[in-house]
Amino acid sequence: PAKPTDGQIVMQKIDSTTATETELRKKLQRPSQKSPDAILKIVTPIIDEVRKGGDKAVLSYTHKFEKATSLTSPVIKAPFPKEMMDLPQETIQAIDISFENIRKFHAAQKEEKALQVETMPGVVCSRFSRPIERVGLYIPGGTAVLPSTALMLGVPAMVAGCQKIVLASPPRSDGRVTPEIVYVAHKIGAESIVLAGGAQAVAAMAYGTESISKVDKILGPGNQFVTAAKMHVSNDTNAGVSIDMPAGPSEVLVIADKDANPAFVASDLLSQAEHGVDSQVILIAVDLDEQQLKAIDDELHKQALALPRVDIVRGAIAHSVTVLVKTMDDAMRISNDYAPEHLILQVKDAEQAVDKVMNAGSVFIGQWTPESVGDYSAGVNHSLPTYGFAKQYSGVNLGSFMKHITSSNLTADGLRNVGTAVMQLAKVEELEAHRRAVEMRLQFLDGQ
Ligand code: NAD
Repeated sequence: PAKPTDGQIVMQKIDSTTATETELRKKLQRPSQKSPDAILKIVTPIIDEVRKGGDKAVLSYTHKFEKATSLTSPVIKAPFPKEMMDLPQETIQAIDISFENIRKFHAAQKEEKALQVETMPGVVCSRFSRPIERVGLYIPGGTAVLPSTALMLGVPAMVAGCQKIVLASPPRSDGRVTPEIVYVAHKIGAESIVLAGGAQAVAAMAYGTESISKVDKILGPGNQFVTAAKMHVSNDTNAGVSIDMPAGPSEVLVIADKDANPAFVASDLLSQAEHGVDSQVILIAVDLDEQQLKAIDDELHKQALALPRVDIVRGAIAHSVTVLVKTMDDAMRISNDYAPEHLILQVKDAEQAVDKVMNAGSVFIGQWTPESVGDYSAGVNHSLPTYGFAKQYSGVNLGSFMKHITSSNLTADGLRNVGTAVMQLAKVEELEAHRRAVEMRLQFLDGQ
């Protein structure tokens, strides 16, 4: 790995006023991922093993991947023992504050009343929502402790009213889950914590085992094995399970103008770059001169060297880029085309700029709003679409744990009003039973 002394940590630059559209696109390409086929070849046998072997198979993979050889059961069920959530008071307080803000923001997303529209006299269409009954929440383990992910998935599941919430997270090599995750599981009323990671955890929740509950939807980020396993089980109609969204490495795009504080800009770029070497950070510099650009470069270098994860930062910065533009309109056009997971607006009229945001997972407005607040405690969700999927996906929200059901309710007059159209379309489609279902009732009404 590169050493902190291995030279200047600096982002490449591209001037959008002189570069071609193709050159710009190429520079803004996300780092390529391992071929999904290669990963599928690894995860498919794991999924098959778990489907056939149940608990025993899950345990053996946990022994293998997590080295947790002392573990004898792949799951712990609520109520979770107090000694499993032994935490310093500051951590409990931090989790409690974040929990409450996330709860408030997601509770406000509830649709209080069913939507109801009379499309024609006597034809009433409604839409109402119901929680998904059983959800499985994957909390990555691997290298970091991630109670924030447990909060971001668990709190909306609780607010939505999901009846069964199953958490899964790879245990440490001593066979235990981090106490922060147990504490969150306790607060959200989880049914159980699956002590497994990767494809085996996903398969266990998708199909169920002797002791692990089957769920209806699996949500949560994870590495390429987790993502591939989620895609695989959601394609299996026998599993009857859906997933939240495709997940890729985390990313940020910062738009900064002359008003931005170079130190703040650099700190936001770095807080994303420290996620992983495959992360990408983009700076769009709006009409900055040489001196202002250098101030940001210098801050980035200086702050990076002081970080414990400087080697990871170096890797991420190597495929990150600063784009020079002349106007805010140019900046927004490029940002919307990139569709960043996180968009930070460090510009003069940041609030106004939001009107022009078309594609982004979550937006952070103004100099007092670092992305970190959204990652943990402000209340917004941090499970967001990456890799340009912000063009068609929303981040995790209350709706991710609900489904909508529609209903129609017609009076006799309603059927008279709409019946002719129905019968004609059924005739066009040659579905005679459909046509007759209406005709029979209309004849009945005529005969009265
Ligand atoms: P993880 O929990 O995703 O994966 C650990 C599991 O990977 C292991 O349990 C094992 O089953 C499996 N695995 C590892 N090597 C394997 C192999 N060779 N063959 C088969 N399976 C194997 O933890 P991680 O690896 O630390 O990854 C965490 C990921 O989650 C990172 O990519 C990170 O960027 C992402 N993440 C994203 C967000 C977000 O909100 N976008 C938040 C947190 C983490």
